[in-house]
Amino acid sequence: MSRYDSRSGDPTSYRDRRSDSGFGGASAYDGSVRSSSSRRDYDGAEPPRKLDLDGLTPFEKNFYIESPLVAAMSDAEVEDYRRRREITVEGRDVPKPVNSFRDIGFPDYVLQEITKAGFVEPTAIQAQGWPMALKGRDLIGIAETGSGKTLAYLLPAIVHVNAQPILAPGDGPIVLVLAPTRELAVQIQQEAAKFGASSRIKNTCIYGGVPKGPQVRDLQKGVEIVIATPGRLIDMLESNHTNLRRVTYLVLDEADRMLDMGFEPQIRKIVSQIRPDRQTLYWSATWPKEVEQLARQFLYNPYKVVIGSADLKANHAIRQHVNIVSESQKYNKLVKLLEDIMDGSRILIFMDTKKGCDQITRQLRMDGWPTLSIHGDKSQAERDWVLSEFKAGKSPIMTATDVAARGLGMHIPLFSILCLCCSF
Ligand code: ADP
Ligand code: MG
Repeated sequence: MSRYDSRSGDPTSYRDRRSDSGFGGASAYDGSVRSSSSRRDYDGAEPPRKLDLDGLTPFEKNFYIESPLVAAMSDAEVEDYRRRREITVEGRDVPKPVNSFRDIGFPDYVLQEITKAGFVEPTAIQAQGWPMALKGRDLIGIAETGSGKTLAYLLPAIVHVNAQPILAPGDGPIVLVLAPTRELAVQIQQEAAKFGASSRIKNTCIYGGVPKGPQVRDLQKGVEIVIATPGRLIDMLESNHTNLRRVTYLVLDEADRMLDMGFEPQIRKIVSQIRPDRQTLYWSATWPKEVEQLARQFLYNPYKVVIGSADLKANHAIRQHVNIVSESQKYNKLVKLLEDIMDGSRILIFMDTKKGCDQITRQLRMDGWPTLSIHGDKSQAERDWVLSEFKAGKSPIMTATDVAARGLGMHIPLFSILCLCCSF
């Protein structure tokens, strides 16, 4: 029986599932005991919590071996690198960032996938997030949309899975990724399939709005990685189609959006079924106070890595223009802007009030601009319809209150949305 010891100093000792599909990895319990018993509260603000691990089979979660090149980086070099890539870190014993894919010590079959994808270097969140995640510690990773967060947690997840005993019949997943929407879950699954294929890791996506049969069959066959939206997952748990007893690596992706969408009770319910010494990782583009509060309840002694400004709200790729005009000039200015930018792309106009939305929509329509409006006084059915007309381009202009600030399910590169903030 091959035993994996993360502190052996030999990066080639990642277990390769392709050549050895037997038991391995979970024996180095001293590592997880040590990291678990020294686990502290969030930022030292609360007294240390003791984890009740009675009756739980030990598992390995620290796989990080610093490469000699990374180890040789001086403190000044590390600082310089972080400054250059706008990396801010918090936590105890933060590992140094890595410069290249080679330095992280991923197994060859993962590196081959990276090369195949044509990636040149780790993104900032990957450069700092990978060593953190591979150390088996809890983690909060904040970086703007499109910055490569998915692989920042998926590649360490693959290493994690490959070091665990293989699934027995009836076992649930080892890695659970929670995501707020079906679209996002599917995107994550595509990355998981691409980068996990070479180590024969199976995954499935569990989300609502489609028949359960195929999802149930996948779960029953046994999958190492489950990517799920909370509601359908709870459904599957309650009907005993899967269980979370084997989960040792938990990811909450777009944690901010999940909270925004009111998923907190579901998340709480799901997390309560997962062993307490799991590794938990949060990923988000923004980090509002409420997210921090939720994080405190489910994380132990986490690292935190933020790329760019911590209160970053907007994607840096979005150019922002501010025009200050008097109340009476606003409508004319808006029409001028529309004349300049109407090119078939969608235009979203945010308004302060529902009344403002209705007024400006009426006015624009009278002046021949194809405009519809969504706000809180409209029924869900009408909002859905308006949104579909907007998405399809039949009504390329939409006015909205902040009901539309989140969860439109549209990605800016596809739709080139322009936002104008107006209060009429
Ligand atoms: P986020 O979750 O931060 O919004 P994604 O993980 O969806 O971003 O990544 C956005 C895109 O960048 C994806 O197409 C992904 O394959 C690609 N990507 C990830 N890592 C790298 C990298 N190191 N170099 C180049 N592209 C990358
Ligand atoms: Mg993402």
